[in-house]
Amino acid sequence: MKTIDNVNFDCERVIIRVDYNVPFEGKRITDVTRIEASKETIDLVLKKGGSIILLTHIGRPNGHEPEFSCQLLINEVSKILGREVFFCNSTIGKDAEEKCKMLKSGEIMLMENVRFHSAETNGDIDFARKLSRLGTVYINDAFGTAHRAHASTCTIAKFFSKKYCGKLLEREVVSIQKVVKNGKKPILAIIGGAKISSKITIIESLMNSVTDIIIGGGMAYTFVRAQGGSIGDSICEKDFFEYSIQLLEKAKQRNISIHLPEDVTIADSFNNNANRKVSKINEIPDGWQGLDIGPKSIEMLKPIIKNSKTILWNGPLGVFEFDNFSVGTVELGKLIADATLNGTFSLVGGGDSVLAVKKFGFSDKVSYVSTGGGAMLESLEGKVLPGIEVLN
Ligand code: AMP
Repeated sequence: MKTIDNVNFDCERVIIRVDYNVPFEGKRITDVTRIEASKETIDLVLKKGGSIILLTHIGRPNGHEPEFSCQLLINEVSKILGREVFFCNSTIGKDAEEKCKMLKSGEIMLMENVRFHSAETNGDIDFARKLSRLGTVYINDAFGTAHRAHASTCTIAKFFSKKYCGKLLEREVVSIQKVVKNGKKPILAIIGGAKISSKITIIESLMNSVTDIIIGGGMAYTFVRAQGGSIGDSICEKDFFEYSIQLLEKAKQRNISIHLPEDVTIADSFNNNANRKVSKINEIPDGWQGLDIGPKSIEMLKPIIKNSKTILWNGPLGVFEFDNFSVGTVELGKLIADATLNGTFSLVGGGDSVLAVKKFGFSDKVSYVSTGGGAMLESLEGKVLPGIEVLN
C-alpha cells in the first residue's frame, strides 16, 4: 500500500475520500466516530503543505434530498478538526472546480454529497473524471466504503498517478492483517450475533487462520439443535443444521477448537422484563428462549481468552440491547480488555459488536475497533477491496 507518511503535499490540492456517513437524529449527529477517525490524515496532509477537498456520501439519497446534505456536517467537522471548513454546495462542475482551485495551503473544503449523483454508485467513469478535476492528488481514507467500486471510492483513482491510502485505511488493513495474516497464536475468533446465515463466509475463511472459535449469541442455538439438543423457542435456522454439523466436523479435522456456551440465560418472552433463569443450552424448555450466555459459559471463556495472543470479536453474545441479557457481552468485553492490557492484540469489528463496545465503554480498552462493517467482513474473508486495489 502506498501510504502518505513520506509524501510532500506542498502546493497540492488533495482530494480525500472520507466516510462521513454518520447517523443522524433529525439534524443532530448522534455518533461522530467516523469524523474523528479522519482527523489524522487531514492533519498530516495540512502539515505537509496541502489544501484539502473532502468527498463523502451520506445515506442513500434519491437525487438531491436536503436531509442528506453535507452541509449538516459542517459544524461538527469544523469543531473536530479545530479549524474552519468551507462548504461547496455542488460536487462537480465549473463552480466546484473554481472554488477548489481558490483553496490556499492549509484550507479545507467539504463538497456536497457525492450520492446526489446516481453516477456515483454506478462507478461511472465520466462522473469520476469530473470529480478528479477538483484536485491534484487522491487519497482514499474511507474504509467503510472501500468494498464498493463507486466513482469516488474507486474509479476516480484511475485519473491520478499520485494516489495513496490514508492513515485510517492503513490502520484498518494492518489491524485485519494482524489477525488473518500474521497474527500471534493462539488466535481466537469470537463470533456472536443473531444468525449463522450471515456469518458463514466469515467463519469459513477464519478457519484458515484461527486456533479457537467461540460461538455465541443467537446462532449458537442452530448448532445445539442440529446436534439434537432442546432449545425451546430460541432463534434457530433449520436450513443450516447440516452446515453447522459440517462446520464442527471440519474444525475437528483442522484441529480448531469450537466452543459453544454450556449454559444460557433464558427468558419466557423476547423482552427485557421477561421472567428469566439459567438453563443448560441443550435443555431449554418449550416456551423459553436463550437470550444470553450463562455464568458457567462466562467461566469457560476466561482461560480461553487469557491464553489467546490475538482476538477477533464479531457479534454480541446475547441480546445486549436488553440490560437484563447484556451480562455475557459485558463480561466478554471486560475479559478482552484485561487480555489487551496483558499484551494480546484485540480487534473488534462488524456492526453490533462495535455498538456493544461503545455502549459499555470498551472502545479504548481494546487494540482496535474497526470503523467499517461490510468492508471489514469482506477483508476478513480474504477479498481485496476495490477501493484499495485501485491505489496500487
Ligand atoms: P449480528 O448483526 O448478526 O451481529 O446480530 C446482532 C444482533 O443479534 C443483536 O441485535 C442481538 O440482539 C442479536 N442477538 C444476539 N443474541 C441473540 C439471541 N440469543 N437471540 C436473539 N437475538 C440475539
